[in-house]
Amino acid sequence: MLAGGRAAIVTGASRGIGRSIALALAEAGADVLVNFAGREEAAEAVAASIREMGRKALVYQADVADFGQVAEMVKAAQSEFGRVDILVNNAGVTRDNLIPRIKDEDWDSVLAVNLKGAFNCIKAVTRPMLKAKWGRIINITSVVGLTGNAGQANYAASKAGLIGLTKSAARELGSRSITVNAVAPGFIVTEMTDTLPEDVKVKMKSEIPLGRFGLADEVASLVVFLASDQAAYLTGQVIMVDGGMAI
Ligand code: NAP
Repeated sequence: MLAGGRAAIVTGASRGIGRSIALALAEAGADVLVNFAGREEAAEAVAASIREMGRKALVYQADVADFGQVAEMVKAAQSEFGRVDILVNNAGVTRDNLIPRIKDEDWDSVLAVNLKGAFNCIKAVTRPMLKAKWGRIINITSVVGLTGNAGQANYAASKAGLIGLTKSAARELGSRSITVNAVAPGFIVTEMTDTLPEDVKVKMKSEIPLGRFGLADEVASLVVFLASDQAAYLTGQVIMVDGGMAI
């Protein structure tokens, strides 16, 4: 599906949705930098699967909240693959609590990873993409960035901010054929959602028209489309993959 020779950076690709996106992009023909924060073994396993598909993979530890580390990561991708065409800002964290109980550090760390992390990565890839006059930036936001959610004020604010960042970057970069879009998953089965209490899961499922939680692969297939030449006239959009939860 992807034109030959594309290279992608996927942040937080060691597990969950990021892992599925990295594998799906490789399956579609891209070389992939597999970014992770702490779980090196899991990231190495993703890279091994990518290499089995005949694509190149580079495992790279970087905290997306730190611009210095992100800039080095982008340089590493350029030297390994010779190009960076696709950026998927997927790395994300939650520190859920009701507003009176959100600690300063839990507000700051969620904003730092989910929002500033995406900004750092966009800033670092802009130069190579502008030079190539082609690029695809896909930001993984969340339906709660659109609807809000009790107990997730920090997370929802970071994801809403990511939508503003997406639209602004789309306006800035469009003239060079760089598209910037956001994908907003609903409830997807990963470690991030595994920890929710069973009664909360039952209630959430009852509010989803398709009657089930989503799979990481169902997010990944949309990301591959947005990264392709077929999605060339689509920018600044927020596309929900939520089984109809936020209709
Ligand atoms: P997950 O299973 O918790 O995985 C999070 C990933 O982010 C891991 O690869 C982790 O790396 C990486 N990461 C965390 N902090 C990082 C940092 N500072 N720098 C670089 N990487 C970092 O999460 P997920 O459920 O797959 O979610 C992926 C994205 O989708 C997130 O942005 C999340 O907000 C969004 N989303 C998820 C859902 C859902 O229902 N699951 C719904 C809406 C949106 P390590 O493995 O090395 O720790």
